[in-house]
Amino acid sequence: MNANDDLKALIRTIPDFPKPGIQFRDITTLLLDPSGVARTVERMVTATRGPVDLVAGIEARGFLFAAALAVPLNAGVLLIRKDGKLPGTTIAEDYALEYGQDRIAIHEDALVPGARVLLVDDLIATGGTARAAVRLIRKAGGLVEQAQFLVDLPDLGGADALRGDEIAVDALVS
Ligand code: 5GP
Repeated sequence: MNANDDLKALIRTIPDFPKPGIQFRDITTLLLDPSGVARTVERMVTATRGPVDLVAGIEARGFLFAAALAVPLNAGVLLIRKDGKLPGTTIAEDYALEYGQDRIAIHEDALVPGARVLLVDDLIATGGTARAAVRLIRKAGGLVEQAQFLVDLPDLGGADALRGDEIAVDALVS
């Protein structure tokens, strides 16, 4: 048994979602398991390097982990939202999807310069979303040097691309 195989066993694969040919890694089954949630949070806290001021979660599943990590890490929560959802003045960053593009945003005054930010999401695939989040945090004056994911899909190369952006990347499950 490898480390975190217990968590892997709680994640199921749904074929052909959201479209034919995609194997969707569904973490809702892990979230339903009280000890699975606790072990996930505990291991992400252990993997965190040094003090952080904010845990940034990417909409929507990343919010869950950001909030859970913020409490033991004594940090605040930064919501990285799909563009158009935040009420105040925002700054945004575009990123490419397989077809077309998407845009994420934060409030322009969310970060004090030099704030140490830990980026979290449920899963990294191509890395497009996480890399856009890093650009956005840096544009807003934040210091982001680490990112954590529950799942990495290594064949898609996202974690390696993020490492190329000078981010220490940890994932519990591959
Ligand atoms: P990327 O930008 O790295 O290609 O895709 C990662 C983003 O898409 C994450 O925000 C993640 O929530 C979502 N995502 C892509 N594929 C999957 C998947 O198979 N399972 C889950 N849970 N999320 C996925």
